[in-house]
Amino acid sequence: MSGPLVIVGGGSTGCLIASRASESGRLGVLLLEAGRDYGPSAALPGDLQDGGRNSMVRHDWGYRHHPTTQQIRFPFPRGRVLGGSSAVNTCIALRGQPEDFDEWAALGLLEWSWERCLPAFRAFERDLDFDDDWHGRDGELPMRRHPPEEWVAWQAAFVEACRALGFPACDDSNRPGSHGVGPHTMNKVDGRRVSAAEAFLSERVRARESLTIRSETRVRRVILRDRRVVGVEVEGSGGLERIETDRVLLTAGAIATPGILLRSGLGPRDDVTRIGVDPVVNLPGVGRRLLDHPGFAIFLRPRFFGPTSRRDPLIQTVLRYPSAGSGHTCDMLLQPGSKVNLPRVDLPLVSLMAALGKPRGHGVLRFESADLRARPRIESRLLEDEDDRARAVDAMHLARRLAQQPPLRKLASHLLPRAAVLDDRSRTDAWIRKACDSGYHPCGTAPMGPDGDPNAVTDQRGRVRGVEGLHIGDASLMPTIPSANIHLATLMIGQRIGEWWRDGGLE
Ligand SMILES: Cc1cc2nc3c(=O)[nH]c(=O)nc-3n(C[C@H](O)[C@H](O)[C@H](O)COP(=O)(O)OP(=O)(O)OC[C@H]3O[C@@H](n4cnc5c(N)ncnc54)[C@H](O)[C@@H]3O)c2cc1C
Repeated sequence: MSGPLVIVGGGSTGCLIASRASESGRLGVLLLEAGRDYGPSAALPGDLQDGGRNSMVRHDWGYRHHPTTQQIRFPFPRGRVLGGSSAVNTCIALRGQPEDFDEWAALGLLEWSWERCLPAFRAFERDLDFDDDWHGRDGELPMRRHPPEEWVAWQAAFVEACRALGFPACDDSNRPGSHGVGPHTMNKVDGRRVSAAEAFLSERVRARESLTIRSETRVRRVILRDRRVVGVEVEGSGGLERIETDRVLLTAGAIATPGILLRSGLGPRDDVTRIGVDPVVNLPGVGRRLLDHPGFAIFLRPRFFGPTSRRDPLIQTVLRYPSAGSGHTCDMLLQPGSKVNLPRVDLPLVSLMAALGKPRGHGVLRFESADLRARPRIESRLLEDEDDRARAVDAMHLARRLAQQPPLRKLASHLLPRAAVLDDRSRTDAWIRKACDSGYHPCGTAPMGPDGDPNAVTDQRGRVRGVEGLHIGDASLMPTIPSANIHLATLMIGQRIGEWWRDGGLE
């Protein structure tokens, strides 16, 4: 073997894998990140510190997507900074349910049964509230739940309204099998977001001789010779450069990783030739199934100045429940929004936001050019499946019933969609097709799969099929989408792949 393990993209998984893989000192690791590295000090810009609001402009890639075929393009935020999307996100730290991972095992990916994944969650979590067999206590990522005394008025009223409709109370959204209403588990402490960079690339980790971090360095493609990795082509302050190595791990996220694959000649043959690149290995699964959680909401106007403030955290609580007939523990999420968080402004409105945890539909990514600066066409195709829309309409109607309960009704009056729209299923259906948006959880764009699966881009340890020395380790790998926000599940993937690198399981 020659050269370091080159990790492409210092986001959630890139930071965690870099930390684990460099732990023993046996393996040299070079982490390449397109965005800035502010270092391990406390001098982070305010937007990256503020865990009560997403950062969607200053450290963003500027992608846009079509939520549905009927909609204009909406912003599609992705973090561009060391820490990646974990540095800009809402800090909701939900694991999903055991059945989400057993579903992967049932596809033939036996490494990913819940039984095998649980120790990996526990390894990186530092749960500040629970200390038992289910929760991690000694990991680097602190997680806690807002106790009721911290809930702002809109969040407290939401919990009361859910209880009034008979939903059970839930004090821990990460206990396997739990459901109902209660505090969100979140990776922020005293309002400050703890990103993967902050958690996993501490001063002590950065001091390792086995780890080098190069920020503001963008990877164009992987260089292959006879289907073997021989290096990467990067663009940094010194222009175009080649870094030689025989091992590359892509963790550039579910939108950028497929682009790097295609520019390297790996993907559906037609898609590779369309961008003017010579095909190397035909991998039909690259970019063909973009998975995400569709989100939709009702909006309300506060009745008087006071129940909401711009300083209120966006979200503190959640209701997780099963959709009718799904058989799932909780495939639906409903959350009160204490404000409406847009890329450049917060609107002084409140909302009840719903998300579909197990949508049937999926989108597609299309790259039109091999130019590093060209953005892909992101067709999310949310709620285009009829069953998905039926569940979404039910959720909208539940949101309205909640808004009509006295604790919420006393704080805010209904604004959008109009009552007449919600009175009629077909009008609600039409409205959400025009008004839904992404939950910002893209995944599944370079999925792992068992031998014989034509869409499997990698094997179950993230080794790209048909190429020696190339690996994937980010949210692109997910074969199906977990039922809850995916950050924790993404980190769990990173933990396992990082351990395999550390322990020699990938050489
Ligand atoms: C606004 C927002 C809110 C969210 N809220 C939540 C939430 O509350 N809870 C939750 O569970 N999930 C949330 N998510 C989703 C979650 O943060 C992501 O799913 C997760 O961080 C993805 O991890 P990743 O490692 O796959 O990719 P990322 O963390 O996106 O990392 C990819 C990294 O690769 C870098 N990169 C890209 N291209 C290149 C290149 N060519 N060369 C070098 N580097 C490159 C990027 O700059 C980035 O640092 C949110 C996401 C966003 C954007």
